Amino acid sequence: MKKVNDIPLKHYFETIKAKIFTIKNISWKSPRIIGGSIVLMLLMGSGLVYLNSTTSAVYIVVNGEKIGLVANEAQAEEMIDQILSEKGAPLGIEAKTHDGITYSSVRIKNADFRMLSKENLAEDISYYVDGVMLTVNKEPIFVLAKAEDGDKLLNDLKEYYAQPSDKNLVSSVEFEDEVETQPVEVPIEQAISYEQALEKLKQGNLQKVEYTIQENDSWWLIARKNDMMTKEVLASNPGTNEDTILKPGEKIVLEKVKPYINVVSEGIRTETETIPFDVITEQDSSLSSGQTKVKQPGSDGQKEVQYAYVQKNGKIVSQTVKDEKVLKEAVSQVIKKGPQRVTVAYSRGSGSTASGLSWPLRRGITSYYGYRGSDFHTGIDIDGDQGEPYVAAGAGKVVSAGWAGNYGRTIVIDHGNGVMTRYAHSTKLLVSVGESVSKGQRIGLVGSTGRSTGSHLHFEVIINGSTVNPLKSLR
Ligand SMILES: [Zn+2]
Repeated sequence: MKKVNDIPLKHYFETIKAKIFTIKNISWKSPRIIGGSIVLMLLMGSGLVYLNSTTSAVYIVVNGEKIGLVANEAQAEEMIDQILSEKGAPLGIEAKTHDGITYSSVRIKNADFRMLSKENLAEDISYYVDGVMLTVNKEPIFVLAKAEDGDKLLNDLKEYYAQPSDKNLVSSVEFEDEVETQPVEVPIEQAISYEQALEKLKQGNLQKVEYTIQENDSWWLIARKNDMMTKEVLASNPGTNEDTILKPGEKIVLEKVKPYINVVSEGIRTETETIPFDVITEQDSSLSSGQTKVKQPGSDGQKEVQYAYVQKNGKIVSQTVKDEKVLKEAVSQVIKKGPQRVTVAYSRGSGSTASGLSWPLRRGITSYYGYRGSDFHTGIDIDGDQGEPYVAAGAGKVVSAGWAGNYGRTIVIDHGNGVMTRYAHSTKLLVSVGESVSKGQRIGLVGSTGRSTGSHLHFEVIINGSTVNPLKSLR
């Protein structure tokens, strides 16, 4: 009986080949035709050759389709775990899949083994996330991929609008809308990350609203009525500019950004404010007529004011003074003055122009001097944010500072030579009557007091008691 080992090596393969050829024609169940030992020899021989030139591998099968080969199941599983982690990473989660993924073991020729790349496998899998859907007034807004972050997202939005700080003691923050989160499973591309979600909520939603032009409307007026800037209204209607004529009854589009969720907060705000000093004038006959002399320089005081406020989406809706505490008393300025000349309501002079005035606020004009529909607009409106400071257009003396009906909180400055300027709708005045101001000095803060539909500065130039177009005087 020959052993496999006894066959000289150089004949070994020839023998096997011949036997394999022969083997097809023999019956395995005929030990009388061919000896059992020979069968054993052939099996062992061919088996060794097979093992040396082939390898075991595993097909990854996705939904019944063979995608490619990897070395073994463990490797396949590791690869899939990695893919799911990488897919979910930008969203802060582990992605999942519902694809049927199975493995099928094979032996293939060494030369035929091509390892499946992670990238190629990743393309053949569909991914899902277990997120939460945010709905506002039953309207779905988005799906947040990481469900656990749902509460944090809403709390962070509340904090963003409530602006708690050393100054702002927030007592309550609430959503004005019905806000709900519910678990939902979606394909991964339909979900967004925590950062994207918060950014989206902060930015708000662009909404297009149709507006029917009313009698006497101007671009400025439409902007004011809708709490927008004139340039925003114009931008919503391509091809228009401030000179485009508005025809009553026709429709235009207003593109407004509205928050998805309205956040109302209440609390106490503490501000440190200036107490402007008073000016006291004493007659002094030792001085010549019109001559003045400062007897005691004035200095501003300081007070701490507590406001109870209500904010909506970070903007103050209402506030009332709750408490005031003087930190430093103001010191009055005492001026000695020679024998008084005749004073008049408006100083009159020879100057018929008011050249050399400078802009009280360097922002866009939202309404010009002249007829606005049937009304005559006695000044220009300069766009400004609530609380934005404006300055004196020229040096002069404050002849009026306080509430003035439709003008709201208003300052009038007499610049001499019959020229005066008026600053209306302020939220706050920083000067008081009798005070001398220099050109460019901050005198008040922009607001929307009196008859005003939005924060702006109404600015007038008055010459010898009559208003003139300020644009002819401003430099
Ligand atoms: Zn105005």
